[in-house]
Amino acid sequence: MSQSKTPQHAKVLYPGTFDPITNGHVDLVKRAAKLFDEVVIAVAVGHHKQPTFNFDERIELVQTCFKDYPTVSAIGFEGLLVDFMQDQNATAVLRGLRTMSDFEYEFQLANMNRALDDNFEAVFLTPSQDYSYLSSTMVREVAKLGGDVSKLVPACVQQAFAKKLGN
Ligand code: ADP
Repeated sequence: MSQSKTPQHAKVLYPGTFDPITNGHVDLVKRAAKLFDEVVIAVAVGHHKQPTFNFDERIELVQTCFKDYPTVSAIGFEGLLVDFMQDQNATAVLRGLRTMSDFEYEFQLANMNRALDDNFEAVFLTPSQDYSYLSSTMVREVAKLGGDVSKLVPACVQQAFAKKLGN
């Protein structure tokens, strides 16, 4: 039996806190943009965390990074990811894998989302090796201690740190 295939707009949702967006996130999005018709970066409110950059600042920084990428956009969200995926008509979510510990956490998260919605799909990409050590948490620490973050984050984020921390 032949299966008829309807062309589908493949839209991937990349959820995270992005406090702030780093070169690792950017690397992942650029890779995803080659695989999907559309990439939507979904910035989570992150009620459970005390973010350095507020919700609007985090969204704006992501938007600035990808202003020259017509198929990449940023949007804020709160609530259950599976609900937001349905609202957005997303094909899958994108998550990044740097280490084995990322894998364990992401595997658990994907299974929880699958338990909430059997249609949940996730794709996992690895960043360039240069960024495999990079996390927003570490970047925030370096910036707060006055270290140079120019190789770790996009220029707009470096400027935002300078403004916020006065360094
Ligand atoms: P969360 O709070 O959901 O972990 P993050 O913004 O820290 O939000 O991360 C969002 C996603 O991006 C996660 O899947 C994380 O593993 C991935 N990620 C973060 N930093 C990197 C990096 N340097 N390389 C690849 N993926 C990354």
